[in-house]
Amino acid sequence: MCAKPVVITIDGPAGAGKSTVSRLVARRLDFVYLDTGAMYRAVALAAKKNGVDLEDHQSLGALCDKLDISFDNTTDPPRILLDSRDISREIRTPEIDMLASRVSAIKEVREAMTSLQRKVAAEAGKVVAEGRDMGTVVFPSARWKFFLTATLDERARRRYEELIQRGEKISKSNVAKEMKKRDEQDSNRALAPLKPADDAMIIDTTNLSIDQVVNRICDIVDSTISQSQK
Ligand code: C5P
Repeated sequence: MCAKPVVITIDGPAGAGKSTVSRLVARRLDFVYLDTGAMYRAVALAAKKNGVDLEDHQSLGALCDKLDISFDNTTDPPRILLDSRDISREIRTPEIDMLASRVSAIKEVREAMTSLQRKVAAEAGKVVAEGRDMGTVVFPSARWKFFLTATLDERARRRYEELIQRGEKISKSNVAKEMKKRDEQDSNRALAPLKPADDAMIIDTTNLSIDQVVNRICDIVDSTISQSQK
């Protein structure tokens, strides 16, 4: 276990390109990719399956304490396991999008996930941590912090394409409406709201390709590493 992991944080709203970019940056730099949104999605799925009332914060906290959430990093993208079962596909639905956003506003859930995220990072040693509060709350002293944004139109377009490819039946206007609602919930909650850390570099990905964003981030990381070796 590594006491002080080397961390790159990549935060931002839904559809800003965080997942693909984080995964590719991790692969290129030989870091472990940590998808913290998937963890909140796993809690949402478990709450739904166990019939836990989302207003009952104590029961949700108790549920989090007994859940076994882990990642299998031997595949690319990594798979998320809940009690050793692969739930990677099951958590990517519009219903779980909204449920994850609701459970993530709850203190008991955030505390459990924050400590699990720090534990995973300590075990991995080098992580690209993707989420909403990576640079602000979970890893405030991360060496590199990025915040990806894009216009709502572009983010909804990307998410719509992704859902259609997965076989979901949903209209573009509904995707935009739900995304806007989710961003508002995530940005306005009292705990760990979606916002850039003061020392994060903000990258607007609206008119950039995935490769351009990945190159920009890797160049910055590489240049600080080579400067510190001089
Ligand atoms: O990133 P993704 O869309 O998978 O995240 C699902 C939900 O989990 C977000 O809408 C947000 O409410 C929550 N989340 C969070 N903090 C994180 C990562 C995700 O609150 N670090």
